[in-house]
Amino acid sequence: MKVLVINCGSSSLKYQLINMENEEVLAKGICERIGIEGSFLKHQPGEGDKVTVEKPMPTHMEAIQSVIEALIDANHGVIKSMSEINAVGHRVVHAGEKFAYSVILNDEVMNALNECIELAPLHNPPNIIGIEACQKLMPGVPMVGVFDTAFHQTMPKEAYIYALPYEMYEKYKIRRYGFHGTSHKYVSEKTAEFLGKPLSELKLITCHLGNGASVAAVNHGESIDTSMGFTPLEGLVMGTRAGDMDPAIVTFLQDKENLTSEEVNNLLNKKSGVLGISKISSDFRDIEEAAGKGNENAQLALDVYNYRVKKYIGAYMAAMNGADAIIFTAGLGENSDVVRETICKDMDFLGIKIDTQKNKVRGKLTDISAEGSKVKVLIVPTNEELMIARDTKTLISK
Ligand code: AMP
Repeated sequence: MKVLVINCGSSSLKYQLINMENEEVLAKGICERIGIEGSFLKHQPGEGDKVTVEKPMPTHMEAIQSVIEALIDANHGVIKSMSEINAVGHRVVHAGEKFAYSVILNDEVMNALNECIELAPLHNPPNIIGIEACQKLMPGVPMVGVFDTAFHQTMPKEAYIYALPYEMYEKYKIRRYGFHGTSHKYVSEKTAEFLGKPLSELKLITCHLGNGASVAAVNHGESIDTSMGFTPLEGLVMGTRAGDMDPAIVTFLQDKENLTSEEVNNLLNKKSGVLGISKISSDFRDIEEAAGKGNENAQLALDVYNYRVKKYIGAYMAAMNGADAIIFTAGLGENSDVVRETICKDMDFLGIKIDTQKNKVRGKLTDISAEGSKVKVLIVPTNEELMIARDTKTLISK
């Protein structure tokens, strides 16, 4: 069985074709600048060389058409015809309270996802456009929706209700949803496999530290709390997002800087985080380099970032009465030994100790805990595409 995984953004579309017999990635790539002049597709067959195809892509329909053409191309293609694609798995950001699991996409599900646009106005519309374009171009091929919010639907009410007038939840569904669920679920399962224990017996704290970042408390296989909330703005400090702060700052800023709600939203989502504090970049490689050269704002950005992650780990150990393992994943979690070391420093009271030598590794499934550390500390590379493909296979095989 071959599953095409699609992750559609507003102007980009990432894809992978996975052979589910052995979970081999047959091809992967990205369409960029969809709807903008100069659109192109970057395609990589298996371990082969990347090719770039420049092509007008006024809408996601042309982008998906280009993906299909690249996959069946005589030179860099990996299948003979579209009929070899048995199913498509779509990443969808927000399913609200409607879906706690991945589902086969039908009219009823599509209506439910359209109702969730209000909750994720930036993310859900391109996801839905991508699904509709695929449905038109690949009629009869089963499609599955895999939701970032689904894994966190197991959170208990005390973790997801905000202390607002309860009508705000009843009227507008304002509550904590959590995101990156596919990644938190994948690394939890991988950790159980690595430790040789059933997931149902483990207490895990999964730290997805990428450009967007979130921590989750995974108790016996279920997410019981996570740092992102109603939107992906809450929680950790991120590349350009502020994360937790006093909500009174919003109206204060609106008054002082004469900002509209859209402008203040933009400031908190696009101009804050480590970019805002460092004044340099949202990319940790740039910030770590600048901090190394003595740039104080860059160092401060790293300090604030790391401290926030440390606090969440402590909070989730309290929530679960301990933890068996702490997992670092995503771009920064997998690659920055400095960030991992700083976060885990002086946590021996909680039974967390890392081995600084073992920690000097990038992007590899590794146990970096020190001898005698009560809590295991692991690097577990995430693979959201594979998780989406696995869910798709399971659902269409039923
Ligand atoms: P992601 O969103 O998971 O793709 O993560 C992207 C982020 O990971 C980048 O913005 C960088 O900040 C960070 N990152 C990737 N590689 C490295 C590295 N070698 N050292 C430090 N940070 C890294």
